[in-house]
Amino acid sequence: MEAKVFFTSMRIRNRESLLDRLENLVKTAGLEQIDFQNKFVAIKVHFGEPGNLAYLRPNYARRMVSVIKSLGGNPFLSDCNTLYVGRRKNALEHLSVAMENGYNYFQTDCHVIIGDGLRGTDEALIDINGEFVKQAKVGRAFADSDIIISMNHVKGHGLAGFGGALKNLGMGCASRAGKHEMHSSGKPFINSQKCRSCLSCLKNCAVKAISLRDGKAWIDHNLCVGCGRCIGVCNFDAVQVDWNESSVKMNQKIAEYALAVVKGKPHFHINFVIDVSPDCDCVASNNVPIVNNIGFLASFDPVALDQAASDLINQAPMINDYPSNHQDHFQSLNPYTSWAAGLSHGEKIGLGSRTYQLIEVK
Ligand code: SF4
Ligand code: SF4
Repeated sequence: MEAKVFFTSMRIRNRESLLDRLENLVKTAGLEQIDFQNKFVAIKVHFGEPGNLAYLRPNYARRMVSVIKSLGGNPFLSDCNTLYVGRRKNALEHLSVAMENGYNYFQTDCHVIIGDGLRGTDEALIDINGEFVKQAKVGRAFADSDIIISMNHVKGHGLAGFGGALKNLGMGCASRAGKHEMHSSGKPFINSQKCRSCLSCLKNCAVKAISLRDGKAWIDHNLCVGCGRCIGVCNFDAVQVDWNESSVKMNQKIAEYALAVVKGKPHFHINFVIDVSPDCDCVASNNVPIVNNIGFLASFDPVALDQAASDLINQAPMINDYPSNHQDHFQSLNPYTSWAAGLSHGEKIGLGSRTYQLIEVK
């Protein structure tokens, strides 16, 4: 079925604020149809890895917070911890980063909650019985919320190819163990150079797959079930991941996780096609954009939203001397990625539609 995607460009008239444009867009797209009264509303954003300046300005979040509060909702801003070792891998560091990058109460009029808790292990298991994922491991704060709103900075991605609504929902709302499930078809292993023999991982492995060998932790892969729990409990980044999942399968798993995140809840999504950097906001830097700023898109359908955003980007000329095959800018940048596989799978499992009607809002 054809989904509706609402779009507004960034070309303004009469010194109109882009924040007013955003509010008009989401209201025209039907946000007010959701019953927000007394509901906990998780607003999924990416706070940006320190050093990256392409992440979404908190000003956009503040306006969405204001709109949701005016509709009676109780919003909070949230993201889950990262699987990779950076400055957002536990809640303390992650909150510091959010604060540094302007995602704090003073700037946004809204509290920040790290979705999967202190160590990235606070998760809810959501049954979806998918082709690849049977039970999704979703950050508890997202699972406990009544309504999901995603604010997605659209950009390229070294592994997924394209980062939009599905990536922000599926990968972003997963606990660290959930992220492991999407990134790896294998099992974690111990870097013995980093292991301090604290035994924390041994105590937390439910199937007793970890033991000491020559004084260092060691995982018996015959016993390990790949749950990823040991990754979060190690304070020394010694439990490591084989990032070996293919781009096709990872994108398909992302779609299944995205379905789990919104399952049974009202949800609404906004794609910001601005500062379209070639890499994810997880990278501690950002290169010049691949296309000029295009605008904001909003929809109840995250698949249609990503399809529309990628179509608009691929119809625009690449700038800044990036190589292009003139069909798919994201594949030109990362030839081994297969981002469209996630959209196809998302459509197949009922998350949304790749067919859409683009409605311009002026
Ligand atoms: S939790 Fe980390 S440091 Fe402690 S024993 Fe396990 S791998 Fe080693
Ligand atoms: S991934 Fe899970 S089962 Fe495997 S060693 Fe770690 S905690 Fe144990």
